Amino acid sequence: MRHLFSFLCITLFALTFTFAQNIKSPSEFLGYDIGTQFSRHHQVVDYFKSVSETLPNQVILETYGKTNERRSLYLAYVSSEENLKNLEIIRENNLKNAGLLEGRPTSTEVAIVWLSYNVHGNEASSSEASMLTLYKLLTERKELLKNTIVIIDPCINPDGRDRYVNWYNETASQPYDIDQQASEHKEPWPGGRPNHYLFDLNRDWLWATQTESTLRLKAYNKWMPHIHVDFHEQGINEPYYFAPAAEPFHEIISDWQRDFQTEIGKNHTKYFDAEGWLFYTRERYDLFYPSYGDTYPTYMGAIGMTYEQGGHGRAGLGILNDEGHVLTLVERLTHHTTTGLSTIEMASKNATKLNSEFAKFFDNSDLKYKSYVLKGNEDKLNSLKKLLTKHEIVYENPTSSKVSGYDYNSGKQGSMSVNPNALVVHTSQPKGKMVKVLFEPNAKLSDSLTYDITAWSLPYAYGLDAIASNSKVASSKQFERSEFQVMYEAYGYVSKWNSLKDAQFLADLLKNKFKVRFTERSFSSNGKKFERGSLIITKGDNAHLSDFLGNLNNLVSKHSQPLTKINSGFSQTTPDIGSPDIKLINNQKVAILSGDGTSSLSYGAIWHFFEQQLHYPLTSINTDNFSSTNLSKYNVLILPNGYYGSVLNDANMKKLKNWVRSGGKVIAIDGALRSFAGKEGFSLKYKSSDTDTSNNNVENNNLTPYADREREYTNNLITGAIFKTKVDHTHPMAFGYDNDYFSLKLGSSAYNLLESGYNVAHLKDTKVYSGFAGKNALKNLDKTLVFGEERMGSGSFIYMADNPMFRSFWENGKLFLVNSIFFVNNNAFEL
Ligand SMILES: [Zn+2]
Repeated sequence: MRHLFSFLCITLFALTFTFAQNIKSPSEFLGYDIGTQFSRHHQVVDYFKSVSETLPNQVILETYGKTNERRSLYLAYVSSEENLKNLEIIRENNLKNAGLLEGRPTSTEVAIVWLSYNVHGNEASSSEASMLTLYKLLTERKELLKNTIVIIDPCINPDGRDRYVNWYNETASQPYDIDQQASEHKEPWPGGRPNHYLFDLNRDWLWATQTESTLRLKAYNKWMPHIHVDFHEQGINEPYYFAPAAEPFHEIISDWQRDFQTEIGKNHTKYFDAEGWLFYTRERYDLFYPSYGDTYPTYMGAIGMTYEQGGHGRAGLGILNDEGHVLTLVERLTHHTTTGLSTIEMASKNATKLNSEFAKFFDNSDLKYKSYVLKGNEDKLNSLKKLLTKHEIVYENPTSSKVSGYDYNSGKQGSMSVNPNALVVHTSQPKGKMVKVLFEPNAKLSDSLTYDITAWSLPYAYGLDAIASNSKVASSKQFERSEFQVMYEAYGYVSKWNSLKDAQFLADLLKNKFKVRFTERSFSSNGKKFERGSLIITKGDNAHLSDFLGNLNNLVSKHSQPLTKINSGFSQTTPDIGSPDIKLINNQKVAILSGDGTSSLSYGAIWHFFEQQLHYPLTSINTDNFSSTNLSKYNVLILPNGYYGSVLNDANMKKLKNWVRSGGKVIAIDGALRSFAGKEGFSLKYKSSDTDTSNNNVENNNLTPYADREREYTNNLITGAIFKTKVDHTHPMAFGYDNDYFSLKLGSSAYNLLESGYNVAHLKDTKVYSGFAGKNALKNLDKTLVFGEERMGSGSFIYMADNPMFRSFWENGKLFLVNSIFFVNNNAFEL
């Protein structure tokens, strides 16, 4: 037995040894030299599988879910045998070190590095680099794994990557053509950058509206790495970019986080200098907007970084750039492999320090605001709770009845009465810094030159009243309660109307063939008052349904939707249920324009909203086919943000107007308003457009020094700032809203109030509640249109100058779109 045992051990050892020798390089495995072809997602995955099967003690590959197009998402855990045996203990030690798990860590010697590749699908060199990085790590740089766990996500966005790679493979010449004008360098709409629903996943870490983000966050929060790298690509003429990042930095970023990314950058420099490669640092990519792959990890305690290689969807396998250099895929992936390995090297060298500094980040005793208290519509509070849960942020309910501090609604110190249903979020929790980032009224900008929105404060985005308190508000955890109640026989039932949840309930009623009414005036019945927009479902309207009450109760239960029963069509205060002011809701046929001319992001956000949030059918019409489209099949046409100059030529504009005159409804969003502003037959007029730079010159008499040109230009910009609008909530577009609505303004375009038409929401003044707005841009915003309706014949043009669907995180704006579809100018006509 003993002999046999020894023999087995020797054999096993020999086998392990042989396996270690046998992992194939990516080129051997793929059958082509890496970088000479684009690998499809499944080939990348197959390589990782083959390595983990060959070295199961050093590479564990696990799937963490599937994309919308059913491609699997993977994480590879790469380390020494010893570490992988203790993987769970190392993970728990790390959470204990941060205070995210009870108990003291038994050891804090191992660094955790997370490398994320190909978040933008057409920045396709990085998934290739992920394979080479894995191979080199396990062969040439094994020593780094002694005290490092490397977590590799070879492709964050497989749907986008394959969209790009499949297009490239079917388009490119052989050999590849380096001419910039060749079709292999001109990706068609929408390009491979975004995911299936055309969301930019590098803007979605925090809002987690997309399935890839939600799934990734679960794994991320389980691990909480010390370093996170997001690999990207930029224009073909740009040299490589790596950390340190550019200003502005968010103020919660610690000195250690600033310093260590500089150290990492210096380590990369060593390798780049040795090869004579060009690179730059500290310019362009800032650390402020919290929803990126560098800032999100940073606000969760990591050293979060973006690395940018020149290339992206234009470069293909090779391209002659403007500097006369032939940029190849081989070169691009070599650079990304170099910085990946250099990052791991720095983690390994500084593992102990990374652990001790990581622990310090989670001490939040210095934060100014100790608690954020929110109250308002229960559905909105619930959807905020869902968001907090995705980030494993803890919330409670207040035990006092009044709180004071900074009042979000007035923008001044104030107080607010609260009941136990209100929400309290403390900063004295491990993720307190992220709490601050999410809730603080106005994030401090160290520099106005940022290339993204500068405001996102959640109380405004969710439409909740809020107080930020300097002292910790007393609170306790309460049980969640369910609203659902079975409905019994009655004349009819009324549902409130003030949240997206109510809209989802309506969409489901319509899908199930219910006839539903809404009221244009408030009324009371059975001693209860019902506000404008309330839904009314009567027995009489629904006689066509075989089991009206049973079906209704199914939907009430599915949506936990509270209904109020009414016993008679006679109201205590009018209108009665049969009044012309209580209108039948039409099962609207909604179409949207997509394709060339439309913003793929804006189109994608609405597409996702209909399919995954509202659950209501939407027909997408390509702009190429607009002139041959029979519009009479639809009640509503949505024009997402875009440039419609070539689509809405004279003939098509005439067609559109005729359709509207006969009862059609156009909903124009953001840039789509340009198609109508100042045009014949429209009362929509520009006050100023965002392409108008004349203000700059008037202000400065052209004396701006050349070196300040970029900074001076920011005076004309609004890059996502929050303003308070005045709302006409008697208009059906605003049913369910109050007098005030906080809007996220994304640009400086401004439209005058409509002279003939309804100004549903407008800016009364130019006070900025949160974010950055340049002084010149602000001058033009006074008394301008935010949402409005203009009638033409029997139909309407609905204008949304601010885009509430932007990145799908401005929860409180979405009902304006739903109202526009179902309530505004309700003709109740069936097609
Ligand atoms: Zn990118």
